[in-house]
Amino acid sequence: MPGHVDILIVGGGAAGIAAARRLAGGRHSVLLLEAGDRLGGRAFTTSLAGMKLDLGCGWLHSADRNPWARLAEAEGWPIDRTPPAWREQWQEIGFSGTEQRDALAAFEAFDKRLREEAPPSDRAADALEPGCRWNAWLEALSGYINGAELGCLSIADYLAYEDADSDVNWRLPDGYGALVAAAGTDLPVRLAAPVTTIDRRTTPLRATGPWGSVTADRVIVAVPTNVLAEERLRFDPPLPDKVEAAADLPLGLANKAFLLLDRPEPFERDTQLLGDPHDPATGSYYLRPFGRPLIECFFGGAGARSLETEGEGAAADFAIQQLVGLLGSDTRRRLTPLAETRWGADPLLGGSYSHALPGKADARARLAASVENRIFFAGEACSASDFSTAHGAYATGVEAAEAAIASLS
Ligand SMILES: Cc1cc2nc3c(=O)[nH]c(=O)nc-3n(C[C@H](O)[C@H](O)[C@H](O)COP(=O)(O)OP(=O)(O)OC[C@H]3O[C@@H](n4cnc5c(N)ncnc54)[C@H](O)[C@@H]3O)c2cc1C
Repeated sequence: MPGHVDILIVGGGAAGIAAARRLAGGRHSVLLLEAGDRLGGRAFTTSLAGMKLDLGCGWLHSADRNPWARLAEAEGWPIDRTPPAWREQWQEIGFSGTEQRDALAAFEAFDKRLREEAPPSDRAADALEPGCRWNAWLEALSGYINGAELGCLSIADYLAYEDADSDVNWRLPDGYGALVAAAGTDLPVRLAAPVTTIDRRTTPLRATGPWGSVTADRVIVAVPTNVLAEERLRFDPPLPDKVEAAADLPLGLANKAFLLLDRPEPFERDTQLLGDPHDPATGSYYLRPFGRPLIECFFGGAGARSLETEGEGAAADFAIQQLVGLLGSDTRRRLTPLAETRWGADPLLGGSYSHALPGKADARARLAASVENRIFFAGEACSASDFSTAHGAYATGVEAAEAAIASLS
């Protein structure tokens, strides 16, 4: 570990890696400190039963302008461009075509109200039509998209993402998390090095943790908002504006469970089933992703939180119960739990992706603003419109790196 670097990066997720890649090989000495024992953060591919499974990000959203997609193409990673099956219930099981059309019409009316009659509260739930039978479904969608209920969601923030999203979504059979981690190969990285304090009383700055300390002329902070809001990484003297901005952008919760599928043939590949369109906590089930003998289960918002609180195995049990309800009791014998995530319980992350609280959409710019032109901030939550994604994180990392370079010249 060097005693001093020109630019220190704290946090080795998509944003920190992108910042380090932008800086590596340049004029300035660089070091990336990652608290965990691997690079990638919320991008994480694991291998189970001979399959590469993305426990965190899986979709290259806005793939036509996604820098990770460009990198995958440049480096020859196979890309699956099959459009997502999110909008269609496989064989209309438990959710008829007529119901799906009604629900979609309710979504479109809700979206129109958000845009044209936005309530002064900026609270998305206030734009729901009281008594509408699809409100539970809209809540379930919010759980998947935002990791949070409509009651704690800023309309302005939500629309900023929606308007920027190009609606082109691809996947990587070898794993999005694997791509992000591979992008960190050969960078100056130290793992298992949590930064607990950044001392800004001195020049240079000094970052300290249980591993020791390092001084740096510039620091790029690329940790999740919960880490900043809960002051698990502190500044000395403190930066209360940053703590407040981070608290205005809490991480919502989305979790996955993977079920091995015995005799998968009757199930069509890359199709989807929603567990119960009238349950706001329902799971959503991707059948045979990439044609694999697998069901990928997705939970968001309140549903994800309650299953995570129930403990290990609860998500898989709930998924199997919903799938048996849709597909019949014979299905139970064909499903074997393989893995499930608990992103909220990860002490280095504490959730899945950020959303702005009502009235707090400006927190993204407040969080992203540099301090004294020597402390820079990156991470998905700093993105004005691509927040909650790995490509948004990438762009903020590059931006922070370029701002740090400019500040040194
Ligand atoms: C279940 C799930 C599904 C998702 N699906 C998608 C998807 O399909 N598409 C998409 O684009 N995005 C998706 N996302 C979101 C995406 O994964 C994240 O937005 C993105 O990876 C965040 O990158 P980041 O660099 O901002 O933060 P992180 O990945 O959180 O990286 C921050 C890093 O900082 C480290 N750290 C924390 N504290 C300290 C400290 N004190 N000192 C040093 N290091 C520290 C952490 O260990 C972590 O490695 C999903 C996320 C989840 C959980």
